[in-house]
Amino acid sequence: MPVRLPDADGDFIGPYNRLSASQVNTWKACPRLWYYEKVRRFVMPQIPILFVGRAVEEAICKTLKESPALIVETAQADIYAETPLDEDGRPDREYEQRWPAEQLLVLPESKWPMDIESLQHWANRRVLSHLAVCLEKMRIEWFKHDRKAGDWDEDVDVERCAKMALNGIKMHMSEVSDCLKSASDEELNSWRKGIREDWPAPDGRGFALDGHPLAQTGSMSLIEAWEIARPWFVDPDAKPFMMNAVHPEHWFQGEYDLVYRWGGQNKIIDIKASLGNSDRSGDYVEQMRMYAYLWWSTHEKQRIEGLEIWYLAADSIKTIEVPSEEELEVLGVELKTLWSKLREETPSIERCPPKPAPMRSFGPGGVPSEETTDLTRCQRCDWSHVCPTGEFDNQHPNGGKYHLPGMVAETVTTPLNEIKKRHTVTGRVHAVIRGNQPRITIAEGNSAFADVQIKASEHTDGGATMPEDLKKGELVSVGNAFFQINYKGALILKVDPFARVARLQEGDDEISLHTPRARWNVTGTVVYRTEKRGRSARGDWCRQGLMLMDESGSLKIEGWQADWGPQYDMLEPGNHVVITNIGIDGWAALERGEMYRASRLHILHN
Ligand code: SF4
Repeated sequence: MPVRLPDADGDFIGPYNRLSASQVNTWKACPRLWYYEKVRRFVMPQIPILFVGRAVEEAICKTLKESPALIVETAQADIYAETPLDEDGRPDREYEQRWPAEQLLVLPESKWPMDIESLQHWANRRVLSHLAVCLEKMRIEWFKHDRKAGDWDEDVDVERCAKMALNGIKMHMSEVSDCLKSASDEELNSWRKGIREDWPAPDGRGFALDGHPLAQTGSMSLIEAWEIARPWFVDPDAKPFMMNAVHPEHWFQGEYDLVYRWGGQNKIIDIKASLGNSDRSGDYVEQMRMYAYLWWSTHEKQRIEGLEIWYLAADSIKTIEVPSEEELEVLGVELKTLWSKLREETPSIERCPPKPAPMRSFGPGGVPSEETTDLTRCQRCDWSHVCPTGEFDNQHPNGGKYHLPGMVAETVTTPLNEIKKRHTVTGRVHAVIRGNQPRITIAEGNSAFADVQIKASEHTDGGATMPEDLKKGELVSVGNAFFQINYKGALILKVDPFARVARLQEGDDEISLHTPRARWNVTGTVVYRTEKRGRSARGDWCRQGLMLMDESGSLKIEGWQADWGPQYDMLEPGNHVVITNIGIDGWAALERGEMYRASRLHILHN
């Protein structure tokens, strides 16, 4: 099956600690690069081309999901209702009402495409209609990203996107055509009876069918070939990252693009909205080999029959040789060893040396080439301005004291990994406000109060983040929460999926509301700036920020534009800065610094 869910009782690793093919490839490209992106959480510039690839792939999948027996080529792109999802965001196995495809009447046969050319024409029209919607959706997503780079209108060539989407459809049509010619009667009859895979190809229908509603009689019709050849892919309506195949021991996971299953042959396809003439084409081969391993380890050691990379911009399919049994065994050992090294425990920066692998050359379609490239990996690396093997020839600050302009006393800064980001306090329940976002006021004596904001109802370790029926006067602890003092001086505790309110017994140890430290001074090198803009009922808003690193760690710091002060506009990546009086906020594993009105940014002379 293309999807293999983790075993809830046996998964002690969790989704954030599994290895993925992209992590392995990043590590092999350069261990320090992996460290910057996975441990320090640096986010690469989000250029439009990254979003275009997702739009093209989604447009193809939305087209494959449809049926020409139900949808005319000129129908609007959102003709299918949304797929019903379960609480995890996967297609809902228990859903008993009419699925999206069942809400549409079957078209009269006179409206069905009757030959391959007219079927391809229908699919081409559908994919272009979906592409327009998907590109707009991705443009909005790109625009909202605080690391967006480039210019959408200048960088996105809509005609090139259309060409890629049409090439993808052409590649699929060749599967349909082959299926029409060579699928067996047994396969056809089983499909006609409504027999489905455990994870069926998304087609707007449910998991069980009592006979397929589009079944014909006699030999296979073109419409039947379209339905039978349809590969599995992630339902475009499903929640992201919920349809992974997870290794039985939970240390590796991957999400396939397309898995063709007709003819008793399983074939994994990876779709690349590119020409395939870059160094990354080497990674893609490795990625497919890892997918072959994942398939094998999730299918009782049965090898996948085919592996292909579809380079849509080159209009070319690259076939990857399926690794042998012995190669898969060796690959599994290598991957598990790497998982232990990288994910079982987070490695220190020293264990992730700046050792870039040589660049590889490929021609269009991912064809290996002898040509050498003048650019080294470091020259094209997003982090060379902060990396000792790149352009950075200095030391990163690491805490210490600074004499800042306009300040009488020295400012003491804390190394980034010594900031205590989460806190535990105790208090007596003073008031409880229930509703969608419950809040509790806890008190210490009659003078100190804290506002406990319950932002998540479930803890990541299971169970509620707050007991039911809390009563005034009960002693509680608020554990592992973000602690802030707002501009009015009020104490605020934020309960996210990593924090919890718990009842205490009389006599249990108490921790004063005055114990946590809410404000910090920090110093470091600016890795990059971030910016997000929008409009609300109160007018236009702008959040600005930066990624800061020192010798010990990194911290993203964000704030409203007005709180950054005039120096922010002068900031360049690589600058050393001191920022005073920041708070700490965040959500789950993503912790960040927060600028307030009293915070100040000072650029130091490097
Ligand atoms: S600059 Fe070079 S050594 Fe440093 S992370 Fe990038 S690729 Fe690796």
